[in-house]
Amino acid sequence: LLRAERVRKSYGRHQVLKGIDLEVRRGEVMCVIGPSGSGKSTFLRCVNHLERIQSGRIWVDGELIGYRQSGDRLHDLSARELSRQRAEIGMVFQDFNLFSHYTAVENVMAGPVMVRGEPRESARDRAVELLRRVGLGDKLDAYPRRLSGGQQQRVAIARALSMRPKLMLFDEPTSALDPELVGEVLDVMRDLASEGLTMIIVTHEIGFAREVGDTLVFMDDGVVVESGAPAQVIGNPVHDRTKAFLSKVL
Ligand code: ATP
Ligand code: MG
Repeated sequence: LLRAERVRKSYGRHQVLKGIDLEVRRGEVMCVIGPSGSGKSTFLRCVNHLERIQSGRIWVDGELIGYRQSGDRLHDLSARELSRQRAEIGMVFQDFNLFSHYTAVENVMAGPVMVRGEPRESARDRAVELLRRVGLGDKLDAYPRRLSGGQQQRVAIARALSMRPKLMLFDEPTSALDPELVGEVLDVMRDLASEGLTMIIVTHEIGFAREVGDTLVFMDDGVVVESGAPAQVIGNPVHDRTKAFLSKVL
């Protein structure tokens, strides 16, 4: 479903991604670990073209992200085409990013109504269904400030799902949560995985990655150092850099 080829990204002279090659099949969960500054967030941001890449290509479901190719040349997509592409890729951030002046249900229906022009009635029905699915059927009309971090993050997941994405990207979805709230968010993600949603999850939750991930990628300094079955990468890392990182986080 996702293919990244030789993706390079620099900020000025600082090269942050130094040629990333990755593939995620439909229904697969890829977890990504690596030290701070290794380029994990940058890679996710490139996948939905929040960042322009300097070279390489990213395809999602056979579609080139951010560009249209004609012959050997790449042309930028129009804002409209880009927004259509992005709508198919859900993103969940560390710090929830909910609309504070919207209730839970309004947060979840906002995308379908504003981006897709869906009627409010049907968008609301589906938002209610999604909030029930993440265990928040009793918080439909609550404003974010009245919700715990774990509840806010579950609203954020429901909001991302409201656009019926083909692919979900999670950037450290539990890092900002108090320890006792981490489990409820991981439970929702585990359910989504078992329903066959394709996901890329940047996380420090090694146990979760081992249990739920189909593949585990270790990134360091803008490259994929090692990837494979989670049990293999965690239990029997090949590279010294992977070993050193795991010995610090396990
Ligand atoms: P963390 O685990 O801390 O979230 P990360 O692996 O997600 O780290 P990135 O956020 O992708 O790392 O950052 C990779 C590098 O790119 C860092 O050195 C960072 O300083 C740099 N960087 C990220 N965003 C920008 C930006 N907008 N402008 C300049 N440099 C940036
Ligand atoms: Mg990051």
